[in-house]
Amino acid sequence: MDCLFCKIIAGAIPSTKIYEDEFVYAFQDINPIAPLHYLFIPKQHISGASAITAENAEIVGKIFTAIAKVAAEEKLDSGFRVITNCGADAGQTVPHLHFHLLAGIEMGWSANSGV
Ligand code: 5GP
Ligand code: ZN
Repeated sequence: MDCLFCKIIAGAIPSTKIYEDEFVYAFQDINPIAPLHYLFIPKQHISGASAITAENAEIVGKIFTAIAKVAAEEKLDSGFRVITNCGADAGQTVPHLHFHLLAGIEMGWSANSGV
């Protein structure tokens, strides 16, 4: 499949692994916008948040379970942010569902600023 994140999961494109289980893979973002910036993705190809259905929604809970585990391991006690961009207006550039985990900086809150 011609999908960047499917290639990363397959190991065809290298990545810095943070976490992996049967269903979820997490790795460092290549262009971090915060001191800690990881991406959590399902091993199953789902194009984005708009493609979540009753049949595949279980993976979202598995991803958030992985995020909580990594946040505890990294001792992100002062907080973190989880973001998923969906579609053009939100700036989604890779059409494989992914959740950004951002931490290590006090973040603002604006639809136009990100961090
Ligand atoms: P989006 O803009 O779709 O929400 O997020 C895509 C993210 O994937 C971006 O933050 C971008 O830096 C990251 N990214 C794009 N290509 C690669 C890559 O080849 N390796 C890694 N580790 N991250 C990537
Ligand atoms: Zn994919």
